[in-house]
Amino acid sequence: MKKNHKYIFVIGGVMSGVGKGIAAASIGKVLQSRGYKINLVKVDPYLNVDAGTMNPTEHGEAFVLSSGLETDQDMGNYERFLGRDLPEENYLTSGMIYQSVIQKERNLEYGGKCVEAIPHIREEIVERIEAAADINGSEISVIEIGGTVGDYQNIMFIEAARVMQARNPDSVFFIMVSYLPIPSKVGEMKTKPTQNAIRQLNSYGVQPHMVIGRSSEPLDDRRKSKIAMQCNIRPEHVISAPDIDSIYDVPLNFDKDNLADIILPHFKLKTKRTNKLAKEGMRSWRKFANSAKNTKKELDIAVVGKYFGTGDFVLSDAYISVIEAIKFSSYAKGVKPKLHWISSQDFESGKLSTRSLSKYDGIIVPGGFGQTGIEGKLKVIKYARENKIPYFGLCYGMQLMVVEYARHKAGLSGANTREIDNKAEHLVIDIMPEQKKKLQNKDYGGTMRLGQYPAYLKKGTIARKAYNAELVNERHRHRYEVSPEFVDIIEDAGLVFSGVSPDNKLMEIAELPLNEHPFMLGTQFHPELQARPLTPHPLFTAFVKAALTYKKGKSTGR
Ligand code: GLN
Repeated sequence: MKKNHKYIFVIGGVMSGVGKGIAAASIGKVLQSRGYKINLVKVDPYLNVDAGTMNPTEHGEAFVLSSGLETDQDMGNYERFLGRDLPEENYLTSGMIYQSVIQKERNLEYGGKCVEAIPHIREEIVERIEAAADINGSEISVIEIGGTVGDYQNIMFIEAARVMQARNPDSVFFIMVSYLPIPSKVGEMKTKPTQNAIRQLNSYGVQPHMVIGRSSEPLDDRRKSKIAMQCNIRPEHVISAPDIDSIYDVPLNFDKDNLADIILPHFKLKTKRTNKLAKEGMRSWRKFANSAKNTKKELDIAVVGKYFGTGDFVLSDAYISVIEAIKFSSYAKGVKPKLHWISSQDFESGKLSTRSLSKYDGIIVPGGFGQTGIEGKLKVIKYARENKIPYFGLCYGMQLMVVEYARHKAGLSGANTREIDNKAEHLVIDIMPEQKKKLQNKDYGGTMRLGQYPAYLKKGTIARKAYNAELVNERHRHRYEVSPEFVDIIEDAGLVFSGVSPDNKLMEIAELPLNEHPFMLGTQFHPELQARPLTPHPLFTAFVKAALTYKKGKSTGR
């Protein structure tokens, strides 16, 4: 075990979906504000080796780390709360663990021994948690164990946490994030499910040091002392976490409840008063969280995409990074974004006419895959271009912006992306040759360009001005690219590829010159993955700015 490193395990009780990820991120944030370098680790108990092969309507969008690993959305929250990139060692799945143990067995690395869940799987988990702790000089790891206590799938992870504590009792702290229902017929908050969840955890040999009680209402002293009494926890270690409107208030509430002052003494640690992080404390965060609540002036943004009609919950999960990125830039500009979710299929079926788009201040076509609603998206893009409505295309939204331009401005009327029609006359968006082979073999895992890649920005462009930099690094997740064959034709017709890969082969940003359009820009990468509350993404900010100007122009009749 890394010397002096501290480990906090966050385990869910009663049921899933109560905000364990936000709780873990907020615990990290609170401890960071006391001067500590924090590492946030997510453990996902499923057998997928990464999150890339999962359907976004079921599991939310995959969050891509700089390294290219496709992970769970919680990693996005972790990066946003901590304000920094996290390495891929901070994401673990059962699939990864089993895959490497089985590989080691095949490589005869277990010296002929019988390979078993205990100790081999358990120790693989311990090793990986410790390896993650070793990176970037972090001092405290907060490890969220996915699922709920009592699940079959996460037992090995709880067992790994237990053994880490057995080996080093003073360096491990357990927090249970549990749910307290208020049944409508009873009308009072019930602690029994939480008591049972703690007993279940006890049966694995683990006693939580703290309980974070999630509920629709705050926990009163009676409930706190009941949990404390029944489950051997100090009453002041039972923290109330009622539902609130903004997730960004959670760290502030935890801070008010002295969470850090409970955890740090357990580790015999103190607030590092002289350190830069501690001096900053929660100041900027509080300012940001307040602007998230208090901004009144609205900006109407249409997000034209696919994954809709499966309920609001799924919808916002599928685009969570995009939503947050728009928020951060909007708050920074003193406005609140009102997002209008529009299914691109409605423009194909004629249910909606593109003219209905004139009421919005800006349009976003986010990333996506497959055929559904593509012609509708192309109609929307054409309308935004012709009517000079600020448009921001993210990945697929950029590829389709290029297709639309090729069709209607570059004289390539048969233009398309290979993803839609591999027999199209002009495949302006095409697959990279090295990916072709993998796809032919039906090997869909890892067939995309994933993770951070550099792009050079051309002088005098919107992109260059927004970033105020010549070289940027952004995260990717896509199979297709602008085909080099068509770059000259499309550029001659007026579209500018303002961001390109260092070897000039890959087109990373496309935009229209300012004298043509106030903001018509698309990125092959996903800028939303690197947008953070305290450092909003420059391209989103530029888009919001353009939308504000457009809105003003509309209201003054210009
Ligand atoms: N479907 C497109 C591709 O694979 C775009 C992907 C995306 O938007 N993330 O290239």
